[in-house]
Amino acid sequence: MKTKASNSKLARKRRKRCYACGQIKLFRKFYKYSNGRHSHRCRPCEVKRVMLFNKAGQGKIQHLAAKAKYILRRKFGLTPEQSEERKASGCEICLKPDYHLPGGSKLGHDHDHLTGKLRGVLCTYDNFLVGHLENGREFKTWDMRKQKALEYIERHKN
Ligand SMILES: [Zn+2]
Ligand SMILES: [Zn+2]
Repeated sequence: MKTKASNSKLARKRRKRCYACGQIKLFRKFYKYSNGRHSHRCRPCEVKRVMLFNKAGQGKIQHLAAKAKYILRRKFGLTPEQSEERKASGCEICLKPDYHLPGGSKLGHDHDHLTGKLRGVLCTYDNFLVGHLENGREFKTWDMRKQKALEYIERHKN
């Protein structure tokens, strides 16, 4: 804890060593938190860090959005607008809107895995249920829901 000791010595001189650039600067060159403590990085270093963080975040969001758009068009032949329009009425089986399940389960476009034909909009749970029923697997679930899932499969045949 060498840095801590030297920092407390520095504190008496109202100075602090920046964690990032290592320079000793006056307290007012550091951001002050509401609890009275000063940030580990001096202002310029803090600004640099936040900017880099935002840039990386933005890049990632853009990348994910582009990827999602690509999958939408390639796999389902839909534009983002058409996708939103289809999702507006909620899951075709449970009728719930997007992000209704704890953990952020969301609506997705369902397609026939054999023919590749686009079907309805389903939540993650019902997509799973339909897949199971189609594979001839037993699925312990509420009968009413199972009935609706079977109706859904029938409705989207051909
Ligand atoms: Zn610094
Ligand atoms: Zn559902």
